[in-house]
Amino acid sequence: MKKPVTLSQAIAYFADAERAFDYAKWLRWPDGKVACPRCGSESNSFVKTRSLWFCNGCKKQFTVKVGTIFEDSPMGLDKWMTAVWMICNCKNGISSYELGKAIGVRQNSAWFMLHRIREAMKDEDGFQFGGPTSEVESDETFVGGRGKFMHKDKKERLRKIEGKGNRGDIYMGKTAVHGMLDRELRKVRCSVIPYVRRDVLQSAILKNVERGSKVYTDENPSYDVLTKDFMHEIVHHAERYVNGRVHTNGLENFWCLLKRSLKGTYVAVEPFHLDHYLDEQVFRYNNRATKDNPLTDSDRFAYLMAKVAGKRLTYATLTGKDADALHHETAGTGQEEPF
Ligand SMILES: [Zn+2]
Repeated sequence: MKKPVTLSQAIAYFADAERAFDYAKWLRWPDGKVACPRCGSESNSFVKTRSLWFCNGCKKQFTVKVGTIFEDSPMGLDKWMTAVWMICNCKNGISSYELGKAIGVRQNSAWFMLHRIREAMKDEDGFQFGGPTSEVESDETFVGGRGKFMHKDKKERLRKIEGKGNRGDIYMGKTAVHGMLDRELRKVRCSVIPYVRRDVLQSAILKNVERGSKVYTDENPSYDVLTKDFMHEIVHHAERYVNGRVHTNGLENFWCLLKRSLKGTYVAVEPFHLDHYLDEQVFRYNNRATKDNPLTDSDRFAYLMAKVAGKRLTYATLTGKDADALHHETAGTGQEEPF
């Protein structure tokens, strides 16, 4: 059977347990050299009936899931791979409700699966944006609850936390997000920030952008400090036109996509989890098809599957609660393959 191209083909393809296993094995060890995730030894024997290996180095067994975001999950690889396909290819993301329905698991199990996958979606490019040939846009936005429509009690609670009259009602319950876009790479990086303040923005830009680069921002006075280290130019939004190359339209486009998926798909995102949703949106944006880089859905899938190793996210880490509540809960057939 040919490698899947569309979602329905992917579902049919991964429904075959052996095929899903072979594909996952190939993605994890493309050169065919199966190495133990614990000790690195390549000496092992494969137990076909149980789809696992016995390591001759550390004398322990391992599966294709060990040492990946799938470790300890009772879900079969067919479900996992379908979930990975959906989250990296659905433009606005996929809610745990939709995913649960699509693969036959409970919503809370699907929610945990999606968070584990987001862990693999994290951007790990350490290099800096900018440089002599590129331009970098920097901008910030607010995400989350709308103060105007908020219940009075919640408003009062937030007012106590955020400080009275600090930012006014329109920012109430909102979380600040800062983003940077490298125009040459056509890549975005963004993160939740505690405040839109000079020191916070400056340190994010210094960390992520090569000194001396062209940096475009809006008139926010917090950006004043950039002149020292960067070729800083300012967009005058009030003038209502784009001053040649000096604009932040690329990032504004990204904020639109982010807000659309947060509003449409992920109706109520806790500020605590917002970083994970940013990772997800950034992954899809940075790996979108462009003229120079015509990525397909299956390319994006293979790329994300190659990133699942070496990462873990436990339920306890995710929620600060005990793992048992959700970890073993499956709503599937209860007969998931022991991959
Ligand atoms: Zn070993």
